[in-house]
Amino acid sequence: MKRILITGGAGFIGSHLCDRLLNDGHDVICVDNYFTGTRKNIIHLLSNPHFELVRHDIINPFMAEVDEIYNLACPASPVHYQYNAIKTIKTSVIGAINMLGLAKRTGATILQASTSEVYGDPLVHPQPEAYWGNVNPVGIRSCYDEGKRCAETLFMDYHRKNNVLVKIIRIFNTYGTRMHPQDGRVVSNFIIQALQGKDITIYGDGLQTRSFQYVDDLVEAMVRMMATPKAFTGPVNIGNPNEFTILELAQTVVALTHSKSKIIHLPLPADDPKQRKPDIHLAKEKLGGWTPATHLEEGLRKTIAYFKNTL
Ligand code: NAD
Ligand code: UDP
Repeated sequence: MKRILITGGAGFIGSHLCDRLLNDGHDVICVDNYFTGTRKNIIHLLSNPHFELVRHDIINPFMAEVDEIYNLACPASPVHYQYNAIKTIKTSVIGAINMLGLAKRTGATILQASTSEVYGDPLVHPQPEAYWGNVNPVGIRSCYDEGKRCAETLFMDYHRKNNVLVKIIRIFNTYGTRMHPQDGRVVSNFIIQALQGKDITIYGDGLQTRSFQYVDDLVEAMVRMMATPKAFTGPVNIGNPNEFTILELAQTVVALTHSKSKIIHLPLPADDPKQRKPDIHLAKEKLGGWTPATHLEEGLRKTIAYFKNTL
């Protein structure tokens, strides 16, 4: 049994990771400031003696004796990370310094939830880890993209200079149950709009692409990444390489929900990446043959059922 700290543990991905690590028999400390996360996501765990919930903002230092840290705290939806851009970058950078300091003192292995956004609007397709990206440093997405890039730099420097055991994963668009209804990301937006009979809002022409990964596949990869040999730091892409246009996603959601919603087009936000698809060769090689198992339709059906129940 390990003592494991999850920052952002009350969020969408973090709450699924709490479930998984408790099921695996570990002690879990969940730290969250509830900016985008909610106690509802982990309420079923509150009576578990192996689970501890702490309201804390990681831009302040946190002390605990732990064996592993999963650093997930950071708003992930463009709507939320742009709401308070300076806070977002503080969370990524100062939060990383605080968590790396904790890892250094305790000797814990620390995993960083980085992002495909480090590739920006990519000029290489699909994106391998060796690609350095095409990121606007002064745009409306920069607080998130550059914050996450700086966090990766900090992780590697703490590793090189202080021998901290680090693992970096670059997560591609992930969806599933427990996404916040007001999250603003495309999968939850389209499902909620379809279920409520509202217009489906495609930004731009809808020909931009994304590759959607179901949350269970990500959680499996995170646990496998943490268990890799000490010398392996990543970064490793974690995503589902099946690529869809946003228009295809809208049509699939309408079909699966039997919705009467119509598809409308709104202006495309600035710096919206035109295409995104992970090259996952490294993940397959290093994570024991890991490969995403959930097809888009299957994952969408589960997520639709969740929102039907929640709304
Ligand atoms: P989320 O918004 O549901 O979860 C983030 C959690 O972090 C929330 O519970 C929030 O309250 C908490 N948080 C935010 N700032 C904090 C702070 N300063 N101190 C403490 N807690 C704080 O988003 P998610 O989709 O679950 O994303 C989790 C992580 O995975 C994020 O770091 C995100 O950047 C990364 N990621 C997610 C995706 C995706 O598609 N979901 C893709 C790439 C990377
Ligand atoms: N998008 C859309 N309608 C929405 C929300 C998002 O067309 O209601 C588009 C958005 O412009 C982007 C894609 O869907 O091209 C994915 O957006 P999301 O915010 O989910 O993630 P990210 O842009 O960070 O990949």
